[in-house]
Amino acid sequence: MKYYDKLIFELSKKGRTGFSLPENEFCASRNGGVKPAGCLCKALPDNLRRSSDLRLPEVGEVDVVRHYTNLSQMNFGVDTGFYPLGSCTMKYNPKINEEVASMPGLAALHPLQPESTVQGALEVYYNMEKALAAITGMSGFTFNPCAGAHGELTGLMIMRKYHLLRGDLKRNKVIVPDSAHGTNPASAAVCGLDVVVVKSNADGLVDVADLKPLLGDDIAGIMMTNPNTLGLFEREIGEIAKLVHECGGLLYYDGANMNPLLGVVRPGDMGFDIMHLNLHKTFSTPHGGGGPGAGPVGVAARLEHCLPCPRVIREEDGTFTVLHGSEESAGYVSGFMGNFGIILRAYAYILSLGHQNLLLAGKYATISANYIKESLKDCYKLPIPSICKHEFVFDGLINDGAHDDVPGATTLDVAKRLLDFGFHAPTIYFPLLFHQTIMIEPTETESKETIDSFIEVMRKIAAEAAEDPMLLKAAPHNAPISRPDETRAARQPILKYWDA
Ligand SMILES: *Cc1c(COP(=O)(O)O)cnc(C)c1O
Repeated sequence: MKYYDKLIFELSKKGRTGFSLPENEFCASRNGGVKPAGCLCKALPDNLRRSSDLRLPEVGEVDVVRHYTNLSQMNFGVDTGFYPLGSCTMKYNPKINEEVASMPGLAALHPLQPESTVQGALEVYYNMEKALAAITGMSGFTFNPCAGAHGELTGLMIMRKYHLLRGDLKRNKVIVPDSAHGTNPASAAVCGLDVVVVKSNADGLVDVADLKPLLGDDIAGIMMTNPNTLGLFEREIGEIAKLVHECGGLLYYDGANMNPLLGVVRPGDMGFDIMHLNLHKTFSTPHGGGGPGAGPVGVAARLEHCLPCPRVIREEDGTFTVLHGSEESAGYVSGFMGNFGIILRAYAYILSLGHQNLLLAGKYATISANYIKESLKDCYKLPIPSICKHEFVFDGLINDGAHDDVPGATTLDVAKRLLDFGFHAPTIYFPLLFHQTIMIEPTETESKETIDSFIEVMRKIAAEAAEDPMLLKAAPHNAPISRPDETRAARQPILKYWDA
């Protein structure tokens, strides 16, 4: 144990401080119990005043600095290492985004300022809506939703509103593929719609034969993502769009992972009517840890009247105005206009890459994923061998080392062992279609050298598993903690040092 592994409470020494100030003339306890005349404490009623001192650790400044610096180094982020977390698009967050978002003229705005004083910010919303419409083939966007799942809910509210406005009251079911991200059925349920599951075929794609009998006049729409959650392109999307539209339903596109499509295909052209984007995935803004996100929702022209307000419009004289609610809008889903700081960062990303480079992002992400898949498929089971998009899944190790009564190494053990080599673990046990899923997404932002060292480590771990699976089962060997009880850590976290 290193000395700084001690908790800051254990380093505490009675009476030690990190500052020195002149005698506090207001505080009675430090003044022999005598309150000087005019003491501010008198302004507070007795029941609001603490009766004993706060039990804070008493340490010097250097201990505080080491405490926080060491804590920060126990964390893992995309700025410290490779983060191949499938379905999450943990791409590098360029520092110019932060630079732009912290400019005082933007960072210090107040949502209640008069429109005439925030014309620049409104122009960002307006231009961003135009950029996203061009990228996706949609007609208009709302920036209200603060996450991908929040965007799904908003999109489904728009879908429901559209049917209701047409007097089509029977449509209360939403079709969701069995490969869908878990948030899809959850959002439909939160929106008060019933979920109907459509099966995947042996190629991992939506089974059109299974879809046909589900379609009818009670279907509000279908939620899909393309490429789907296995990283595979739904080749039958044209046929699926035709069938769903013929039955009067709408197509919702889960665009959380728009990355591989950038500049290649547009959801609008595939026949989708409503979609969300995760700016915190495809457009390089920070995410994780429940921080602020943005899930703007786009719609085709015939649904624009249902978009939530406020929206920014451009007047004939070139000024920008905020449009507030209408009877036909699906309603507000957040205060003001979503997470402006995140929208700004994504706008900076789009402008700094520019048209040409944005077109390359998806292609590089796709090449990186296929390169890893092909380089490892002799060590890890590849259930779906076709060309993938930005991500792909393995189904555990080919040789897990099981022999006699020694159990084989699992996907969890591989993920834990990766931490010893300084890589974040990939997504594991998701999607649920396989038993030992490992889902890898490298993104376009990693160099070939980084990807090669990841491949080398994954091969080394496969060799270790074949030789000595118990080595993997005890991993990680050099992380700050090894294998916590994850359920207890989530359900009964111990967040304070003192019992009382
Ligand atoms: C990440 C993701 C979501 C959810 O996005 P959040 O911002 O985490 O709510 C939805 N669908 C897919 C396919 C995703 O990858």
